[in-house]
Amino acid sequence: MLATSLPLPATFTLSSLQTCEKTKSTPVHCSSPPPPQSPMDLQPKRVAVCGGGVIGVCTAYFLAKKGASVTLIEKSSVACAASGKSGGFLALDWCDGGPLASLARASFNLHRSLAEEFNGAESYGYRPLTTLSLTVTESEKQSPPSRDKNLPSWVDGPARGLRAIGSTETTAQVHPQMFTKTLLSKAVEKYGVEVVIGKVDSVGVEGGRVESVVLEGGRVIESDSVVLALGPWSGKFEMLSSLFRVYGLKAHSIVLEPKEPDAITPHALFLSYYPEQGGKPMDPEVYPRPTGEVYLCGMSSEVELPEDPEQIAGDPESLEVLKRVASTVSSHLGEGEARLKAEQACFLPCTDDSVPVIGEIPGVKGCYVATGHNCWGILNGPATGAAMAELIVDGQATVVDIARFSPARFVGRRRKG
Ligand SMILES: Cc1cc2nc3c(=O)[nH]c(=O)nc-3n(C[C@H](O)[C@H](O)[C@H](O)COP(=O)(O)OP(=O)(O)OC[C@H]3O[C@@H](n4cnc5c(N)ncnc54)[C@H](O)[C@@H]3O)c2cc1C
Repeated sequence: MLATSLPLPATFTLSSLQTCEKTKSTPVHCSSPPPPQSPMDLQPKRVAVCGGGVIGVCTAYFLAKKGASVTLIEKSSVACAASGKSGGFLALDWCDGGPLASLARASFNLHRSLAEEFNGAESYGYRPLTTLSLTVTESEKQSPPSRDKNLPSWVDGPARGLRAIGSTETTAQVHPQMFTKTLLSKAVEKYGVEVVIGKVDSVGVEGGRVESVVLEGGRVIESDSVVLALGPWSGKFEMLSSLFRVYGLKAHSIVLEPKEPDAITPHALFLSYYPEQGGKPMDPEVYPRPTGEVYLCGMSSEVELPEDPEQIAGDPESLEVLKRVASTVSSHLGEGEARLKAEQACFLPCTDDSVPVIGEIPGVKGCYVATGHNCWGILNGPATGAAMAELIVDGQATVVDIARFSPARFVGRRRKG
């Protein structure tokens, strides 16, 4: 599949240069000698990656794999925000026909290869799964419509209009927090990434070129390049907010632990849910996980983003709706049958044109941004990280064409809001 047709360029490390030195006297395949290298070329590039969500972590991982000396800076804790609380659903072709198509396809396949390399099935709940679309009408709970025999047995509520919208070839899942933390631990163990807990206050720029990041409290981390992967907090970072708008859309989720986890089959559910009190249908999503948990999310609204990710709490009413959805869809997920493990909220990072922003910031050499992944950040993390690493180390991204995502598209446009 595409995964194997998307090889990442060979890792460029100091040790690979040293190996080259050893073979200098007995050239085998080289038709011309390499250009002379200055001592500066032999130094790994120092890159500060700001933000410990899935985008920052994937970028740090692929940069370090290519030989950069990487420091990851996170103000709170790794995967504390959307990257730890999202659904973790992955789809190969759901972005086809739009600007994200090739990013999503490349990333879906990178997820598969990462899962093979790091035993993702065991270490972070990677698994292909079948995805279904259903209509559920809460008021029909007492007298459900005749049951579609193709429904998974645990979906015993008033469901109709069953449609398969993804197969085990085209849809998969990860536990997003475990994925992000596993990838970071591999980056630390295998490639020496350093993790610093601290808030990035500003980027030091001299003569139009990045030279450091400055943390709250005054610590300076000298860097040849800086990546700003601040998720929805990009909108609060002046260097970015002066160029384009990133805002946060708050969304809610609950995690349930059913008493009989083995009864729940690997079927993700996308619902059109008609609440009992009437009103517009809602579109909650249900993801059973191989850990035995069932995750439900939905109920979004545009509200002010708190400065501290740890302060983000769910609205009781929205969480209550998700609990009602759970118990309507399946008796296995009702009160008494499932333990409520978590009730939470987090913010999707959104842009005005609904397209992520990935690339070098115009006018600031060496300063890059990767944000605005909206509802597909877990899916698109690996290809974003791999492309950023190529852009920074090689000067060009080949894993996927990211020209469409460049922040240069905002130059000369008036910011909305
Ligand atoms: C309910 C819900 C369900 C979702 N489901 C899915 C799904 O199924 N599949 C999918 O692909 N995507 C899904 N998403 C979207 C996905 O979670 C996000 O797109 C993704 O997590 C964004 O990652 P990020 O790294 O950009 O941002 P974040 O995860 O928000 O991380 C940003 C990090 O930067 C840190 N930070 C901010 N400012 C600073 C600073 N000044 N200094 C240092 N650190 C800083 C923050 O503390 C935070 O840890 C979902 C999102 C939500 C809300």
